[in-house]
Amino acid sequence: MAKPAQRQQNYLRPLTWAISFPEVWSHKTKISRVNMEGLKPPYILLCNHNAFYDFKVATAAIFPARANYVVAIDGFIGREWLMRKVGCICKRKFTNDLTLIRQLKRVADNGDVAVIYPEARYSLCGTNAVLPESLGKLAKLLKVPVVTLICHGNHINSPFWNTVNRGVKGTQAELTQIITAEELKDISLGEINRRISEKFVYDDFAWQKEKGIRVKYPFRAVGLHRVLYQCPNCGKEYQMDSSGKKLKCKSCGKEWEMTELGELRALSGKTEFSHIPDWYEWERANVRREVESGSYSLKAPVRVCSLPNSKGYIKLGKGTLTHNMDGFVLEGKYGGHPYRVEKSVPSLYSCHIEYNYLNKHGDCIDLNTLDDTYYIYPYDCEFSVTKISLATEELFFADKRKKDEAKTALGL
Ligand SMILES: [Zn+2]
Repeated sequence: MAKPAQRQQNYLRPLTWAISFPEVWSHKTKISRVNMEGLKPPYILLCNHNAFYDFKVATAAIFPARANYVVAIDGFIGREWLMRKVGCICKRKFTNDLTLIRQLKRVADNGDVAVIYPEARYSLCGTNAVLPESLGKLAKLLKVPVVTLICHGNHINSPFWNTVNRGVKGTQAELTQIITAEELKDISLGEINRRISEKFVYDDFAWQKEKGIRVKYPFRAVGLHRVLYQCPNCGKEYQMDSSGKKLKCKSCGKEWEMTELGELRALSGKTEFSHIPDWYEWERANVRREVESGSYSLKAPVRVCSLPNSKGYIKLGKGTLTHNMDGFVLEGKYGGHPYRVEKSVPSLYSCHIEYNYLNKHGDCIDLNTLDDTYYIYPYDCEFSVTKISLATEELFFADKRKKDEAKTALGL
């Protein structure tokens, strides 16, 4: 993790272009540029994250500039050498490490583009995720312009819950310089974060409807129940299922169809949510209520794998995961020795989850310390990793609100 960032090797740069451009052309991706006139690297490039295709759009958008990409450790498995040569910097998700700042400083000093996906995860339903507050500080330290790259349509083409390429054409991307190097000297951290957050608002399903883009893929709803895990008709959790273009509640039997325009339509009775992100936000509101009443709690038997380095996963066997008002606790035994990993509520503003990881391992949550990553697979119980991720965020927000209120009460 501590190895300094390498500049992209010249001989590999045409390879990154050869991998990226044909796909950008095949999706007829339109890249627009705002306030980019005359801007040369170094700069920070903050991108939204919906699919692997995002990397290819970024490569095309900044062509022919040289870049370094911050990538999570699982992207390095078995190919660390190549990843480093094409300019990737290895990081564990949702950890604060100073090493990364030093590495990004070096990228800026080299005169290259520092590409960061600050949401640190793929979007679950094509809308923006929480951003870390540390971005403002990073921009101040690096003293280089801040540029955003917001893609539209990448979730519609290859949603995180079923990544099959739907061949969507006419996707878009906007490259915008939101803060110049000159402005950075005077503006506050709050203002930097405000400008970034303002740009990071997107909704791919709204975009799809507005553009009238039809997805004819007959299995387009398969996997959607992993995001929409709670039935709005009977309120039951973990009973949703999907097949073909349909979504179904196994408890009350209600069915919905996902239209070619990405909307939901109940096959009988009223359509509670035609817009998929609205259903997701409704689930969030229900989780928030559990958090506010102090009743949120999950205890699950889990299988655990750890990823201490890029050589591959180590099976740690069975354990127990507890997630409640105090945060996460993972407990287990490996080689006869008990281990315990704790992540307190204030230490984690969000967490990374996977749906059927690598298409075979099942749904998991990944928790990181500075020197290890744990892939945690609940089994033999009712659960939703989507709910766990929503609860992580709502617990953090509730804790922060409480602290802010206490500060205000003390007049701080
Ligand atoms: Zn139901």
